[in-house]
Amino acid sequence: MTSVDTTIQLLTREQAAGSAANSTCTPELALQPWAFDAGVPNYGPGASMTDVIPTGSPVQGRLPVEYTTASADELDARIRAAKATLGERVVVLGHFYQRDEVVQYADFVGDSFQLANAAKAKPDAEAIVFCGVHFMAETADILSQPSQAVILPNLAAGCSMADMADIDSVEEAWAQLTEIYGTAPDADGRVPVIPVTYMNSSAALKAFCGRNGGIVCTSSNAATVLEWAFERGQRVLFFPDQHLGRNTAKAMGIPIELMPMWNPRKPLGGNSSDELVDAKVVLWHGFCSVHKRFTPAQITKARAEHPGVQVIVHPECPMAVVDAADSAGSTDFIVKAIQAAPAGSTFAIGTEINLVNRLAAEYPQHTIFCLDDVICPCSTMYRIHPGYLAWVLEGLVDGVVHNRIQVAAEVIADSTVALERMLAARPPASTPVADTVR
Ligand code: SF4
Repeated sequence: MTSVDTTIQLLTREQAAGSAANSTCTPELALQPWAFDAGVPNYGPGASMTDVIPTGSPVQGRLPVEYTTASADELDARIRAAKATLGERVVVLGHFYQRDEVVQYADFVGDSFQLANAAKAKPDAEAIVFCGVHFMAETADILSQPSQAVILPNLAAGCSMADMADIDSVEEAWAQLTEIYGTAPDADGRVPVIPVTYMNSSAALKAFCGRNGGIVCTSSNAATVLEWAFERGQRVLFFPDQHLGRNTAKAMGIPIELMPMWNPRKPLGGNSSDELVDAKVVLWHGFCSVHKRFTPAQITKARAEHPGVQVIVHPECPMAVVDAADSAGSTDFIVKAIQAAPAGSTFAIGTEINLVNRLAAEYPQHTIFCLDDVICPCSTMYRIHPGYLAWVLEGLVDGVVHNRIQVAAEVIADSTVALERMLAARPPASTPVADTVR
């Protein structure tokens, strides 16, 4: 199995020759990420390339030319030498969706929360190099020791979904909702609305939840967290991912009509006061452009071409896709389902292509493929490349910390409250809560 990078290079060459039309979502994937570093911020090629990036998003600036011109072998030697020199002083974390060319150097590989906890387990490391995206590095900074430097190798590695809910828009929505709902609890002591943010959000939004009686959730524990919220509130404001919120609430039996969408560009989010009063879950108008690419038609095609296939999708996929799949769950759920399957199983997976290809290579006893046959990785994960990793590691060897991500002390304090509520939330004893939204 070749890596996604290698496959893209081969396909774009074939596309240029006219023999592999539409194999990748854009031929720009063949360019190295530093081609997109200078000037106006942008998400770069990949699934988020048409998303609107917020004004003021970080720009990486030019990577020194010695890293952009180095061969893959030279970068490999330099990264390994820097890691050997730094030893226990550094820990490198690689997200499941990261390219193999980077993941090979990671001391831990996992989802964002697993990685933040892995960093916590290394309190003596001076530096945590997070090969993921910006909100993940922020979470690692919140959970790590104040003396530890959390480093994001390319500052342009944001997350288009996290960027869809900014603190000013959420504060504005909260003010409008509070005007409608008031603040008085009902006869059962439940407040009018509880804010719930997905882990894939800025530290400022986690802190907002901490300050306002709210909580953080992951794709593994969203149902447990919603149960927690409904024990304390009459409604939930869920951001930034509408699909995770909708899929989870629907599986809990909440009718779709009681889940209005909040569009931050419209008064009352585009709803009437009555709709908001009746609401059980107000869903922010955000989405992941990687998971939005999956469709029920792809599932129909997979079932026709692979009788007996098991279709597993991530709950960031649209509701119609989750409904058509056999099961839905976090990246950890997908990995465990494949691990537990008898040899010879066939899986069609609806999540990021780097994870799917890695699973296919790690479990050759199964047939594993991505539901989307067009190769289109997460744009922002793709901004990390071995060249940036070599740059930040050699900087550490020289005593220079590049690209440190630091969350303000007051934001850390409030975010920690919301994260601790999540860690303390437990599934109700009478209800087995599986890591699935179906
Ligand atoms: S896969 Fe989606 S949610 Fe995850 S980092 Fe990429 S854009 Fe953000």
